[in-house]
Amino acid sequence: MSSAETATKSAPQVLPAWPPQLPPAQLAALTNLAADYSLSHGLVYRPPASPPTQPYPSTSRVIHAPITLFPSPLPRELYALARRLQPLYNALYARVATDGPWLEGVMSAVAKVDDFQEELLKVWKTVREEGIAQPIELGLWRSDYLVHTLPDESFTLRQVEFNCISSSFGALASRTNELHRYLEKATGYYSAHPLLSEGNLPENGAVGGLARGIAEAHKAYGVPNATVLFLVQPHERNAFDQRWVEYALLETYGVHIERATFADLVSSASLGPGKQLLYRSPLHASPLEISVVYMRAGYTPTDYAGESDWAARLLVERSRAVKCPSVGAQLAGAKKVQQALMEPGVLESFLLDPSRGPETFTEADLQLLRASFAPMYALDATTLQQTIDNAAHLVLKPQREGGGNNVYRANIPPFLEKLPAKERDAWVVMELIEPPPLRNVLIKAGASEEGGKEGEVISELGIFGICLYSSGSTGGGACEISVNEEVGYLVRTKGRESDEGGVAVGFSCLDSLVLV
Ligand code: ADP
Ligand code: MG
Ligand code: MG
Repeated sequence: MSSAETATKSAPQVLPAWPPQLPPAQLAALTNLAADYSLSHGLVYRPPASPPTQPYPSTSRVIHAPITLFPSPLPRELYALARRLQPLYNALYARVATDGPWLEGVMSAVAKVDDFQEELLKVWKTVREEGIAQPIELGLWRSDYLVHTLPDESFTLRQVEFNCISSSFGALASRTNELHRYLEKATGYYSAHPLLSEGNLPENGAVGGLARGIAEAHKAYGVPNATVLFLVQPHERNAFDQRWVEYALLETYGVHIERATFADLVSSASLGPGKQLLYRSPLHASPLEISVVYMRAGYTPTDYAGESDWAARLLVERSRAVKCPSVGAQLAGAKKVQQALMEPGVLESFLLDPSRGPETFTEADLQLLRASFAPMYALDATTLQQTIDNAAHLVLKPQREGGGNNVYRANIPPFLEKLPAKERDAWVVMELIEPPPLRNVLIKAGASEEGGKEGEVISELGIFGICLYSSGSTGGGACEISVNEEVGYLVRTKGRESDEGGVAVGFSCLDSLVLV
């Protein structure tokens, strides 16, 4: 076994019997406490629209987010490992996002068969040909992991994906951690379990950390009274996860925020003489200069209603505002890139070549990264048959974000039979990660009336990273990183029967960690 593997494995151990077993009356009382705490502390969502009477989610009503009643156990070595990996992944993706030729090489085959990636690539090429007005870029990234059981029954972490755009739930995850701490403090029966003590529930600074990332980018822009723009989807149900970041920015850093949709940009954004991004807001008499564009929209094809929305994205990318993410970084977040990073020599070229930037990385850093990869490969004529034969252990992924897009296990062979050969480049193949069985009590809104239900679950750990880096004005060559931090975590827990894991798409519950 390599030394890296030794370093990244936790000692063989058995996870505790979980969750604590409570009599039904106590479970019901806890569930009510959890629901009230969530509603009082903004751990909330807008309720789904109920067509046809209500075409959009109500703007005056909320429900609590789907939550778990108990935090989920994770070996503490694995939590430390995930945190240790984050600055390495941040540096890697900063360098990928700013390496035009490599990224274009990887994504151009995909773009031929994927209209969305093609549009992104077009925007990126236009901006690079014109000359990049703002070399500084902000990453508010999230690396997602599942615990994987090794053949000797010890545990390690395997990366599911690296999110470069609209990485959500930082704020609501911080609130969920506070909820579980509150339940520990407020109730004797909850904390009667030996593991449920405050010291085992790691604090989650994600909301403050994400705000700090934006504040750093705002400062780097250099115009203190400029405004940060949150680019959002119309009728967003998960608006409060964004609002908390907004309030933290205003309260901690005195930075002002405007929220705008693509449609708002189309009608009210323009470029100033020095390529400043100017935005006419209904709240202000004169146009605002935008320092940072934080995108919580633009990650999925349906966010772009037509040509004019793509023109608005291009306008943003051409501007002097700091983009979070730049279109280059959005492309870097593609699953195709994740797969390409596993190919021989690629990590070495990004992290060990001194011309890439002043930070230095070691062979041990690379081994740590490599040990966190779940095997992936390109889908093509040479891998088609092995994919069909081995389908029970595989997932097929297209270049999409937001959940609900993958093809799993037995669905793979019939899917491949219908997939035209030329469309294979749009997909990558990944080995399924096999998390150990856990149990928890999931509470969906309304469950406080019926009581939550205990069941077998899978927990996915996300680690948030902030990274402020500079691409150099030509978009090639060295990458300078000025902020590179791990800032907090997300745990999403889903019923074991569900393949997908999105909270927003209704599969998962927000959770937090109890370290064992
Ligand atoms: P998205 O960008 O849409 O979130 P993901 O790659 O995260 O796409 O896949 C969605 C979900 O599918 C994950 O949250 C996880 O639950 C499941 N999943 C993805 N890859 C794997 C894998 N290799 N092993 C097990 N489950 C996976
Ligand atoms: Mg994703
Ligand atoms: Mg995901």
